[in-house]
Amino acid sequence: MNLEQKFVDLHTHSTASDGTDSPTTLVTAAKAAGLAAIALTDHDTVAGLEEAQAAGRKLGMDVVRGCEISCSTEHGHLHILGLWLPVDAKPLEERLSWLRQQRDARNVNILRKLQELGLSVSMDEVLAEAKGESVGRPHIATVLLRKGYVGDKKEAFRKYLGNEGKAYVPRTVLTPEESVRLLSSLGATVSLAHPLLRKLPWDWLEAMVAHLKDCGLDAIEAYHSEHSEAQTRACLELARRHGLAVSGGSDYHGANKPSIALGRGYGSLRVSVQLFEDLRRRRQAVGLPVRCGVQTKGQRCAALASRASRAMFVL
Ligand SMILES: [Zn+2]
Ligand SMILES: [Zn+2]
Repeated sequence: MNLEQKFVDLHTHSTASDGTDSPTTLVTAAKAAGLAAIALTDHDTVAGLEEAQAAGRKLGMDVVRGCEISCSTEHGHLHILGLWLPVDAKPLEERLSWLRQQRDARNVNILRKLQELGLSVSMDEVLAEAKGESVGRPHIATVLLRKGYVGDKKEAFRKYLGNEGKAYVPRTVLTPEESVRLLSSLGATVSLAHPLLRKLPWDWLEAMVAHLKDCGLDAIEAYHSEHSEAQTRACLELARRHGLAVSGGSDYHGANKPSIALGRGYGSLRVSVQLFEDLRRRRQAVGLPVRCGVQTKGQRCAALASRASRAMFVL
């Protein structure tokens, strides 16, 4: 192996969603791990990005502003990653804030259902667990575990919080089309996260990728901790067939998924810096900035105008 070979991690979570590292801790860990760049992609929030970028500037670490949006389809959830988000992403922030309101209402309903089942979990306990902005089921599971209602978090999901659980409440989410269009219109590089994590019907996935490409999808996340080598190859093929770029990351969540290491997944994951450079080149080729927040207004307007016309063309 080339000792000079550098790696990146373009899919990570911090305390701003359901990770356990603060954005600063995460960027510091990425630097210590020798990564060349990292993207912070918290679920349905951009709240950790300023802190992550400040840490990146201090440490000389390339931090890509990102987020991961959960979307619903007839075959279950799809996750869409936005990378290189602009500093000013108002339309996205407004939509994410609406989603968070929906999520908060859902959490209240879950706690009510648990109460009816005789399990007392208060919102204060859940908030204390969450520390960051996006409060969700993992935090409720932690409280259930701490209070001895379940033996582990898996049991919390199986018995109460998961789709089949007694306290399950469905969630309001965006469609993949809306997410892709929204992110694309802001000038983000849009990638379909871990397409093979859940067993989606292959023909359906193939058609969905073609459709999302028309909406502005740029890339497929082929390299992911949960993808086997064969699945990674299948994703690389999928990307090639549709003329899409490739992204990759560990989906690091800190102590919430302790066996997944930053930049290394379960041990064998490596996302080369060449992949990162290819994504940057593709952005530069259409006039999109590769350093978050440092673009001339004219550059960004021209690039976005061409994206907006593409995104709106598909109804
Ligand atoms: Zn995901
Ligand atoms: Zn993720």
